[in-house]
Amino acid sequence: MLDLAALEAENETLLAFLYLCPVGIVQFAVDGTVRLSNPYAAQLLIPISPSRTIANFFVALERCAPELRNIAKDFPSDRGQVVQGHRIVVSGTGPGPRYLACSLLKISADCLIAVLQDVSREVQQEQQLKQNEALFSAIVTGVNDFALFSLNECGRIDSWNVSAVRQTGYPAEEVLGHDLETLVEARVAQPGLIAEQVAAAAQEGWSLREARLVRRDGQRYWCQILVAAVEGAQGDIQGYSVVMRDVTERRMTTEEFRRLVTTDHLTGAANRAHFFEQAGIALDRSERSGQPLSVVMLDVDHFKSVNDGFGHAAGDAVLQALVRQCRACLDEVAILARLGGEEFAVLLPGTDLGKAALVAERMRFSVATLDGLPVNVTISLGCAQMDKRIDSIDALLRQADEALYRAKRAGRDQVVVAPPLPEPSDLVVV
Ligand code: GH3
Ligand code: MG
Ligand code: MG
Repeated sequence: MLDLAALEAENETLLAFLYLCPVGIVQFAVDGTVRLSNPYAAQLLIPISPSRTIANFFVALERCAPELRNIAKDFPSDRGQVVQGHRIVVSGTGPGPRYLACSLLKISADCLIAVLQDVSREVQQEQQLKQNEALFSAIVTGVNDFALFSLNECGRIDSWNVSAVRQTGYPAEEVLGHDLETLVEARVAQPGLIAEQVAAAAQEGWSLREARLVRRDGQRYWCQILVAAVEGAQGDIQGYSVVMRDVTERRMTTEEFRRLVTTDHLTGAANRAHFFEQAGIALDRSERSGQPLSVVMLDVDHFKSVNDGFGHAAGDAVLQALVRQCRACLDEVAILARLGGEEFAVLLPGTDLGKAALVAERMRFSVATLDGLPVNVTISLGCAQMDKRIDSIDALLRQADEALYRAKRAGRDQVVVAPPLPEPSDLVVV
């Protein structure tokens, strides 16, 4: 026996479902005449329907998906899926394009059901993803001074691409599964740098350093290396992303700029400003550490006559040669500066007066015995050591200058040492 009450209840439930469900459902005849549609279908179709009604399914979609009419007409059988998730671009309805996905089911010779879904958000996400993929691929393969690759949780290379090959010169087969350090750092003077950096990234999340690396062909280059830890859901480290940027050019530019602002253009010695800046730093350090600090002043003897007799260009060549000779007598912490004209000063951190006098004598001898110049020259030198009764670099230079003046008066081509200042008890008060 047919349970009418149960059937009606079922029918009610079905209608309630049709009414509430968040997809559009339309039942229509093969010519498109709509027999049944739910509110959501109306909401999706009415705004795009040229007639502003949904009396006919194909007419409602005529502007956006005219192809559906033929697809449905050409479907060869009485039952089956005509299309699945057919994308319909809906334009002119509110801001930005919207997208519908339409599935058509043929359930009898003259009955079709369309299921419509608003997939705008999914499509946008898809597009975003595609854009990101394109962007990522452009970065990975198209950018010249970056290399992007990854390390596994043990710090071994597990991805390598064209950007990394281009920068390092290593093909994938030579690096995959290897320790980054053994490859990139094999001949670099900073052993342990990458391992240290990976450890720092594990601790801090990321780490950025600049280092000099070596390409496969032996060429060295400056590189900015960013290592970022890739964390799993539990905060455990699953690997590392590495971005290496070739900064050689930028580095050279800054070094070049630094050289320009700190050196004398004719001789290559430090300039006045750099000398006083470095002297201030050395003075602070010496006061804190108690280490000695000395200066040597030097001046070319009778330099006017060099210019007068051989020309200004010969004078210039003499100054250049003099700087080369003096430099060779100095260690790397000493700073030789041209204070002006043919006057130079040497800052000697960590050097006492006795040693400063020896250095000065070495310079004097080296200049006096120099061959190959249009004219032989000599220099006179004065040395002084920082003392707690000398209160500034200027005062120290004055002491050295006085000694230099005495060297000149005593016949030139010699070194004079500034006498130590008298102790207060030595002063005779009259
Ligand atoms: P003294 O032994 O007493 O030092 O004698 P001097 O001739 O060296 O004395 P003075 O300091 O009077 O002469 C310095 C000369 O140095 C004068 C100047 O023309 C020359 N001079 C200064 N700067 C330059 C330079 O850049 N190039 C050349 N060629 N000459 C310079
Ligand atoms: Mg002079
Ligand atoms: Mg001179």
